[in-house]
Amino acid sequence: PSASNADAFALTPIGRIESDYPDKFGIPRQPGLAPAARARLVLLPPYDDPLSVRGLEAFSHLWLTFVFHHSPERWSPLVRPPRLGGNAKVGVFASRSTHRPNRLGLSLVELKGIDTDNGVALELSGHDLLDGTPILDIKPYLPWAEAQPDARAGFAPAAPPQCPVAFCAAAEETLSQREDAASLRALIGQVLAQDPRPAYRKGAESRIYGVRLRDVDVRFRALANAAGETRLEVVEI
Ligand code: SAM
Repeated sequence: PSASNADAFALTPIGRIESDYPDKFGIPRQPGLAPAARARLVLLPPYDDPLSVRGLEAFSHLWLTFVFHHSPERWSPLVRPPRLGGNAKVGVFASRSTHRPNRLGLSLVELKGIDTDNGVALELSGHDLLDGTPILDIKPYLPWAEAQPDARAGFAPAAPPQCPVAFCAAAEETLSQREDAASLRALIGQVLAQDPRPAYRKGAESRIYGVRLRDVDVRFRALANAAGETRLEVVEI
């Protein structure tokens, strides 16, 4: 489907994301699911004036609007949310699908710091953004106006269940040699707890998967215990 151009808007990114997530595979499906994930939002000229973020340091959380720049421009009215097993369909506007008109994204992230040494960079955590994501706008989050803990949330009423994660000895050994051992371990655990395998993959399988996080390649597999419950094991970093 295509719209007429008469009412089109041209939007210019105000910044770009440098992220712990170099690839789409493994990125949690919503912000907040991997609090250990870090990113830098580097503002671009002419928006990189420290004046434009004056007062922002007093806010703990921000809304980011961005473009799903690695999604195709094509979209359709019905999508299959992974939450529903990848089979049932809902309307694109009833979903957070990345295949949508205008490819606009919206994420609530935590602001950890502001670096104004050379231009402006915001230090963020708990995001769900691919490296290189173009950011269109930043707004401070207002919990008294925007938090709705009793809201109904359709087919996604609560956070997805978490999958247990184990690290084999070789992976622990690699981790122990890194300066960022604690935060990288937390990131790997939080990302794998979402079971990033495709929705139709359930339970144990012999295949080894790879997910890139920060500068490492994490190899993992799905195992089952005696009760048939699945856990993911990090076999190599
Ligand atoms: N909270 C967001 C929203 O609704 O706008 C994200 C929902 S979407 C289901 C989350 C997924 O978007 C992530 O798991 C990741 O695979 C994908 N993603 C993140 N940044 C992207 C980008 N720049 N281009 C395309 N896909 C991206």
